[in-house]
Amino acid sequence: MNPNFLQTPIEYLKGVGPNRADLLKKELGIFTFQDLLNLFPNRYLDRTQYYKIKDLQRNSADVQVIGRITHLKTVDQKRGKRLVATFKDTNGMMELIWFRGHKWIKENLKLNETYVAFGKTTFYNGTFSMPHPDLELLEKHQSKLRSALQPIYPSTEKLSNSGITNRVLSGLMEQLFLELKKSFVETLSPEILEELQLMPKSKAILNIHFPENGEELAKATYRLKFEELFFIQLQLLIKNLVHKSKIKGYPFTTIGTNFNSFYMEHLPFDLTGAQKRVIKEIRNDLGSNAQMNRLLQGDVGSGKTIVALLSMLIAIDNGFQACLMAPTEILSVQHYAGLCELCKPLKISISILTGSTKTSIRREIHESLENGQLNILIGTHALLEDKVKFKNLGLAIIDEQHRFGVAQRSKLWHKNKYPPHILVMTATPIPRTLAMSVYGDLDISVIDELPPGRKDIKTVHRYDSNRLRVFKFIKDQTDLGRQVYIVYPLIQESEMLDYKDLMDGYESISREFGQPQYQISIVHGKMKPADKEFEMNRFIKGETQIMVATTVIEVGVNVPNASVMVIESAERFGLSQLHQLRGRVGRGAEQSYCILMTSHKLSADAKTRLETMTGTSDGFEIAEVDLKLRGPGDIMGTQQSGVLNLRIADIVKDTHILKIARSYARQTLEKDPSLMLPKNSAIKNTYGQIAKYRNIWNYIS
Ligand code: ADP
Ligand code: MG
Repeated sequence: MNPNFLQTPIEYLKGVGPNRADLLKKELGIFTFQDLLNLFPNRYLDRTQYYKIKDLQRNSADVQVIGRITHLKTVDQKRGKRLVATFKDTNGMMELIWFRGHKWIKENLKLNETYVAFGKTTFYNGTFSMPHPDLELLEKHQSKLRSALQPIYPSTEKLSNSGITNRVLSGLMEQLFLELKKSFVETLSPEILEELQLMPKSKAILNIHFPENGEELAKATYRLKFEELFFIQLQLLIKNLVHKSKIKGYPFTTIGTNFNSFYMEHLPFDLTGAQKRVIKEIRNDLGSNAQMNRLLQGDVGSGKTIVALLSMLIAIDNGFQACLMAPTEILSVQHYAGLCELCKPLKISISILTGSTKTSIRREIHESLENGQLNILIGTHALLEDKVKFKNLGLAIIDEQHRFGVAQRSKLWHKNKYPPHILVMTATPIPRTLAMSVYGDLDISVIDELPPGRKDIKTVHRYDSNRLRVFKFIKDQTDLGRQVYIVYPLIQESEMLDYKDLMDGYESISREFGQPQYQISIVHGKMKPADKEFEMNRFIKGETQIMVATTVIEVGVNVPNASVMVIESAERFGLSQLHQLRGRVGRGAEQSYCILMTSHKLSADAKTRLETMTGTSDGFEIAEVDLKLRGPGDIMGTQQSGVLNLRIADIVKDTHILKIARSYARQTLEKDPSLMLPKNSAIKNTYGQIAKYRNIWNYIS
């Protein structure tokens, strides 16, 4: 087919014209024939089902009845008139009713011909009636290209109010297919079609709009979903390949003394299988001469820090510096302390740079960075300041990635002549499927195994009315020497109220847990950083037993003796936040608890979140539920990839197709990286069109 034909402006389709074209453009983004073709139905109605009038149920939608109109009359009513037709089948009678358009109907309706009436029925005064039925002569109904499965297209109120009903859209689609005389160009290779038994392109497009039957429709849907996901994956994989071939990195070919001596003699514990696997993946990346761009996902407590350290040792053994960036001062300090401890037996210099680093020390750090004496720099955003110049930064690690934007990531890149290898670590597990699609251009490592001996955190849901029992429980735990977090929500929109809640809570807790027996810390966003630090440290040192806080403690804080996490107004937190918060306990040897406090008023989503939290501790499982509840857009925050504009596939429901599509895209590129083989010409041509059009389906057709 002449591809230009599909680019014809929509107003040139018979039955459209300038007014309808305007509406189609504004309401559905349909500018061309192509766009209309790619308007895929949301659902289908089964029109193989016909009802007998005597079998009708009260108030049913989407029913169709075969019968004859025997009589037509106009009835006066309070305002205007209604037109009533008597509609009979073999042994039943009902009414068809119109409140508008009488003239047209009277002129066009044929008495005593067999019609199919389709619509919603209501039951009144012993009689069924169908207002504004969709009427079609039986003969025409049966002979139409359209099948028993009737597509229901996406629509808007404005469209249907302006007369562009589903029926009109279906009609336009029919018209389009009449004008499209030839078949569609195949976009996939014969090999893939054959192996996966996919329906050919032309047949699939025809069946998605005019399904022959349920089976063919299922095949068509599968084929189009596969195609959509395949080309998105192909695009991402090619981007990744191009990145690797273009962006050189320093190859770290040596595995040297620091790494070896640490690995052989100074590991504080046996690594888990997952940690070993991930370290191997990172070593492979670092050893090649392409720049590493890797996302390391691992649930809270899965042991990412040691992986970070081993990676940094590789950089150091190859004569390079490394940096580790964390989102908060407290976290940086903890990393610094932890890494200093681990590195004691090694001859490595480590410094920390944050917003509160004194000028004199800052100057020393700048100097030792530039002359190469400093091996590892840990810190906050302060690392991104222009004054911070490395002699030779070889590896940049970013912890808790969701706090840093992409722009900041690339800022690190430009510190050096060649970009350093980048390892992004996150404890907010992004569902694998989503990560695959959105971060297709990043490589992903997953630590999916917790260190042995971790006790599961007992998680319970309690209503506010049970507060006294919760207080009692806290007392018992503190008597045992444990520490407790009590966390309040803080949401910008309701900041004032939230602070009041926090303060009220703090007061009642202070009353309940009086001095001198109990010491309580409070930390919130309105405090000066130094005061926050002071309070945090009191808690870390065990000087206070209870920490009342807003979510500032969410990320990374490590107090192994804290064994209880109470989350107030838990219904207001998102799943990933709840999971992060719960991860603050369960870090020591003792049994830990997470108590989710809520009011009695819970939305359905809130219930699901609470049930998920009490039901599982698997971060990936939680992330999957989160994705289902919130959708991909909210989770990723930005609209950075095609996943958010999927036309037919569903990133949540079509996971299995996504996996197959990704694996086929990968295989195709492995065997034929530049798509030069004749058998891949369809894929190559399709891929080549990507840049030309506005969305992925504009090149796929
Ligand atoms: P996260 O992935 O949340 O950053 P950390 O690296 O802080 O996790 O590790 C959490 C805790 O588990 C630390 O106290 C760490 O020493 C310990 N840990 C990590 N790996 C192992 C392991 N393989 N065996 C035992 N303990 C481990
Ligand atoms: Mg960590």
